[in-house]
Amino acid sequence: MKPMTNRYFVETAVSDSQVTLTGSEAHHLAHVMRVAPGDRVTLFDGSGAEFTAEVDRLGRSEARLTVVGREEVDRELPVRITLAVALPKGDRQKWLVEKAVELGVAEVVPLVTERSVAMPKQQSLARLARAVVEASKQCGRNRLMQIGRPRAWSDFVAETADIDWRLLAHPGGREDDRDNSRPSGLEPVVAAVGPEGGFSDEEIALAVEAGWEKIGLGRRILRVETAALLLAGIVSAPFLE
Ligand code: SAH
Repeated sequence: MKPMTNRYFVETAVSDSQVTLTGSEAHHLAHVMRVAPGDRVTLFDGSGAEFTAEVDRLGRSEARLTVVGREEVDRELPVRITLAVALPKGDRQKWLVEKAVELGVAEVVPLVTERSVAMPKQQSLARLARAVVEASKQCGRNRLMQIGRPRAWSDFVAETADIDWRLLAHPGGREDDRDNSRPSGLEPVVAAVGPEGGFSDEEIALAVEAGWEKIGLGRRILRVETAALLLAGIVSAPFLE
C-alpha cells in the first residue's frame, strides 16, 4: 500500500474539475507538505471516491487544483459497526474517535448515561468531527465516520430495538457465549460501552430486557476507550483482509 500522506479533504462534494482548498487543508498542502504548482495530490470528499488533482496555483490561504481523475476506492469494513460510548474526557475522547476511524467504525454515538462524566457540547463535537477528517486523511478512508447526535441511554436502547446484533460491554458479561452470539452474515452491529463508573444496574437491566447481549472483555477493568476499541476489534476481526 502506498503511504497516505498526500491526501486532502474537500468539504463540499467534488462535482467540478476546479477545486479550491482553504483553511487547514490549504495550510497542510502548501506549508506542511510543501506541495508546489504542477504536483499531483489525492482529494476525497467523503462520498467514497478519491480524486487525483493537479495543483494550479497557491494563494496566501488557498490552493487551486484541477481534478484529473476520479476512482471509487472502498476501504470500509463489510460490517457496519455503530459504537455507542459514554465518552471519556478531553484528549482521550479525541483519541478514541481517531482510533475508531482507523478501525473502520461507521458511527460513534456519544451516550449520556447516569454516571457519564463528559456531556458532549457543540464545541467538542466540532473538535471530534475535525479528528475524523484528520484520521481519514491518514488512514485512507474515503467515507467519514459519523459522530451521532448525543443520546440518553434509554433513548438509544429504544431506537435500536430492531437491530439483531446488539452488544453491551460489561465486566463479567457472558464470555462463554460470545461465539454463539455472532451472526454469520453482515448484519449491522451496535456495540455499547459505559462510562468510567460503569452502567448502573437499571441501565443494564433495561438493555438486557430489550434483547442486548452482555459481553465480557477479560478479567481486567479497561478504560472506556480501550473497551470501545477492543469491542470494535472483536466485531471486525472476522472481516479483515
Ligand atoms: N467501574 C466499572 C467499570 C467501568 S469501565 C465497574 O467496575 O463495573 C468502563 C466501561 O468499559 C464499562 O462500563 C464497560 O462497558 C467497559 N468495560 C471495561 N472493562 C470491561 C471488561 N473487562 N469487560 C467488559 N466491559 C468492560
